[in-house]
Amino acid sequence: MLKFGFIGWRGMVGSVLMERIGLNRDIDSVEALYYSTSQVGQPGPGGAPLLDADDVSQLEQLDVIVTCQGSGHTKRVYPALRSAGWSGYWVDASSALRMADDAVIVLDPINRAQIDAALKDGIKTFIGGNCTVSLMLMAIGGLLRSGHVEWVSTMTYQSASGAGAKFLKELVSQMGLLGSAAQEQLVDPAASVLEIDRIITQQLHSPKLASAITGVPLAASLIPWIDSAVEEGQTREEWKGQVETNKILGTTDPIPVDGICVRVGAMRCHSQGLTIKLKEDLPLDEVEALIKESSEWTRVIPNAKTESMQALTPAAVSGTLEIPVGRIRKMKMGPRYVAAFTVGDQLLWGAAEPLRRMLPILKNHLG
Ligand code: NAP
Repeated sequence: MLKFGFIGWRGMVGSVLMERIGLNRDIDSVEALYYSTSQVGQPGPGGAPLLDADDVSQLEQLDVIVTCQGSGHTKRVYPALRSAGWSGYWVDASSALRMADDAVIVLDPINRAQIDAALKDGIKTFIGGNCTVSLMLMAIGGLLRSGHVEWVSTMTYQSASGAGAKFLKELVSQMGLLGSAAQEQLVDPAASVLEIDRIITQQLHSPKLASAITGVPLAASLIPWIDSAVEEGQTREEWKGQVETNKILGTTDPIPVDGICVRVGAMRCHSQGLTIKLKEDLPLDEVEALIKESSEWTRVIPNAKTESMQALTPAAVSGTLEIPVGRIRKMKMGPRYVAAFTVGDQLLWGAAEPLRRMLPILKNHLG
């Protein structure tokens, strides 16, 4: 029986992954072993004691390791395992190995052919993509694959969950503080809206809301910076847009992708406003048809108020695999410029689902 080891299974991405694995019965026919960095010996899923996620000699017995533990653990354990001669398959949510030459970024609805070719070539390292990149490709991968796109600008509205569990909790507690500060005025029909605004602004400027976790208030505000600075004024999150998109698509002539990545007070859905420059003036119905071809989860939403409000919001998409793409129209800049807006659950297609879908692929491959 194949042995699959799970590391980081109780974190935010890991929990969603385990839930999806359970629903799809992906590990019914394998022996599943569970590891931890902090709870070794305590009972894990199924009751067996958790194994040590840093013990290379224990990990070496596995055919497949699935990890959502984070880059620090990958950087510590992966080289040691490979140096010890381990030749199993490594499936990872973290970015540590994403751009390595011998690693494939997995998003099988978009790059299944690349995954199959890599397996045939003996590649054993498969990494989940950046959440924003994966969601953008699930939305417009069909159009990008068609060769009609000159460049894409992505302006993002990224949810708190993308920054981890503590960040998400902090957002909700900031929302609670703001709501309770203006509670009296909210129930008083005579209260002036300017008074409510003054109370909220005062709260936003108070040190109570600028927590150590979010740095500055996120509720009733936004943060136009995600991750560290890289070159030429970009953030690392923005840098990933072009390099990961082109690696997943396997382009020989890279498509420029750039924009501003912004954290907003949404829970677990990332949204993106896209400006797409086409190489030629394609009719809008052809653009929509190519977008629809991106994946079986991609939905083209009519560019109308009711449909946009009902189907194209984080509230509507949260917890589902749907990838709606709407507000599709030609822009005033000229007939080769297309606007679009897309939303996706960043814990599902943005993190756990591409990894989960590797499990049946690997089980098939390993026979
Ligand atoms: P996380 O929630 O912080 O979990 C990581 C680990 O923290 C857990 O596996 C667990 O390991 C430990 N932990 C400590 N206290 C915990 C608690 N109270 N509850 C649960 N776990 C606790 O990390 P994450 O957001 O899932 O991210 C994991 C990796 O995926 C990172 O590399 C991240 O960059 C990547 N990723 C994240 C997202 C996202 O949406 N957050 C999207 C794409 C990729 P032990 O059992 O060993 O203590």
